[in-house]
Amino acid sequence: MDEIIRDGLAALGVAASEEQVRTMAGYGQMLLRANETTNLTAIRDPAAAARLHFLDSAALLTVADFSGNRAVADVGSGAGFPGVPLRILCPDIKLTCLDSVGKKMDFVRESCAALGLEDVQCIWGRAEEQPQLRERFNIVTSRAVAELHLLAELCLPLVKVGGLFLAMKNPDCGEEAARGDFAVRTLGGRIREIRRYEVPGADVTHAVVVVEKIKPTPEQYPRRWAQIKKKPLVG
Ligand code: SAM
Repeated sequence: MDEIIRDGLAALGVAASEEQVRTMAGYGQMLLRANETTNLTAIRDPAAAARLHFLDSAALLTVADFSGNRAVADVGSGAGFPGVPLRILCPDIKLTCLDSVGKKMDFVRESCAALGLEDVQCIWGRAEEQPQLRERFNIVTSRAVAELHLLAELCLPLVKVGGLFLAMKNPDCGEEAARGDFAVRTLGGRIREIRRYEVPGADVTHAVVVVEKIKPTPEQYPRRWAQIKKKPLVG
């Protein structure tokens, strides 16, 4: 894994020390080992994990500026993606991982502690049920959690005005972004752009919908998940 991660980061133009590369590979090995007994990821091949988990996550550093002690939340983080690779590459970010499945947050907490990433906060819970986190983060990330018109209500309330919500998507997400635009605007955001990037060595293009938070989210949001699904914010 080390070599694929090192070369891939160089191809992305993301600077990393040898120690950071080793820490990412170490996290990847823990993930694949834990995955033998606990269902954490569908990716079982080390080379694929290096590319589709670590390099894909690191690609966010080419989209937004994570430097300067930023508070970052990763919503629906699962086994820690994209949050943990971002924290390894940017040690000064204050990372909060959030997931509704406890065993995934246990894995992230224990693996981060084992690698000396002790300040990573892991919250077992639903993103829409965290009033104490409202408008606390400079950047909120999310990969493979829900369609944008639903996901926006989980993520945008957590972003500070002036901050960013980065939704990692497939490259053909134009229609999804158009459908999500009403929810984004209702919740205080504005879609700035869709950025596409190649994942080095994986022969795939992925995309990030970059949303700016331009005003506070109205008090009535987020609603309960059942309501979000039943009455999605679509124009
Ligand atoms: N982001 C990780 C990745 O890309 O590898 C995990 C993706 S996994 C397909 C989706 C994750 O979102 C699951 O771990 C699930 O428990 C979590 N999730 C779904 N809805 C959520 C919610 N409302 N709040 C917190 N986590 C949620």
